[in-house]
Amino acid sequence: MTEPIPQPAAESAMKSAAKPATKPPVHTEMRYFPDTAGELTVGGQPVSRLAARVGSTPFYAYDRQAMVARVAELRAALPAALRISYAMKANPMPAVVQHMAGLVDGLDVASAGELMVALDAGMGPDHISFAGPGKSDAELKRAVAAGILVNVESFRELPLLRAASAELGLPARVAVRVNPDFDLKSSGMKMGGGPKQFGVDAEEVPRLLQAIGEAGLAFEGFHIYWGSQNLNPAAVVEAQQKSFELAVRLAAHAPSPVRHLNLGGGFGIPYFPGDKHLELASIGANLGELIERARTELPQATLSIELGRYLVGESGVYVCRVLDRKVSRGHTYLVTDGGMHHHLAASGNFGQVIRKNYPVRLAKPTPTGVEPSELEPVSVVGPLCTPLDLLGDRCRLQHAEPGDLVVVFQSGAYGPSASPQRFLGHPEVKEVLV
Ligand SMILES: *Cc1c(COP(=O)(O)O)cnc(C)c1O
Repeated sequence: MTEPIPQPAAESAMKSAAKPATKPPVHTEMRYFPDTAGELTVGGQPVSRLAARVGSTPFYAYDRQAMVARVAELRAALPAALRISYAMKANPMPAVVQHMAGLVDGLDVASAGELMVALDAGMGPDHISFAGPGKSDAELKRAVAAGILVNVESFRELPLLRAASAELGLPARVAVRVNPDFDLKSSGMKMGGGPKQFGVDAEEVPRLLQAIGEAGLAFEGFHIYWGSQNLNPAAVVEAQQKSFELAVRLAAHAPSPVRHLNLGGGFGIPYFPGDKHLELASIGANLGELIERARTELPQATLSIELGRYLVGESGVYVCRVLDRKVSRGHTYLVTDGGMHHHLAASGNFGQVIRKNYPVRLAKPTPTGVEPSELEPVSVVGPLCTPLDLLGDRCRLQHAEPGDLVVVFQSGAYGPSASPQRFLGHPEVKEVLV
């Protein structure tokens, strides 16, 4: 039915003792998007044919089989008893969420809008949790009505949940999102430790737990989220260990036993030159030990992690077309029909401190034997009237002309929904799941 996913070239190349002739590929582009029929393919289809099927460029294409393979690899590396949730904000396209719902154990939503998509995807409310620092009164009520688990992040949420519960005659299921009392130096994007708008400070949690008991809400567990985009396995192991220990300490104050312990996510993917794939072996071993410890220290708890970009980020590409080729004072610009309005992250304006290029290439393959240094240094820019609209800064591509397709990899997460699509009034980007 679908083409087999080629094996990870980077890992096998690194394992072999012989020095590879060329540098092993850092990115998964080679394994998920092979060149067949003289062109890059997504899910076995040449991108030019996909462009014709979509009807226009630019578009995002996501590969179903790549997501299947990704979840399978992850499950093989992590303990079977660990639950894996998909954090929908990474890619909320309904077809993607529906596909992921069939592969993972739960969905994490960050708004009532995402909750609707999660329920439509067929995920049972028992397997949906809701986190977010500013849940509106209406969203809290909708969450109670849906029967999902609410990760409480403020004392303010308790009376609202209690009122919704009384009005609807339904229990409000709650977990406590904890702002941990530890900090991680090597996390790409910190979301816990120190002062944060997320969760409730660990030292305040005993008081919150008491209030949950007094309000008669159904306490189910803890959610401890410490960061995002981490490529350092030792840091992930340390954060998961500390999160577990924090949960055990806090459980002593809980009105009922912990049934769910969400140890956060944070697994990163390689975006930039020099980034390495996150090594899962030590993370899997540590999670195995934590599950073992939970048998005595939190005997009713199921452990979970929640991942966004790790599950879908490498499965997607953004495809745009060269509109113009301009030379300005000796430097070549490829002006494309796509840009930051569709792909803010690749433009470097979605949290990057120092701008680096996402992996970019043309859909037509680079002839074999041609070294990157022999390719043309060009800047790939978008159609917007701002110098921020940059998809590739002085990257080396083979010679491109108007009409050629440009492919941006690592684009399966934080794409259209994380981009300012209305900026400058260009058409919205299309998305396909192949
Ligand atoms: C953003 C977020 C995630 C997903 O982060 P990724 O880096 O995409 O894995 C998971 N959980 C929470 C609470 C988040 O805010």
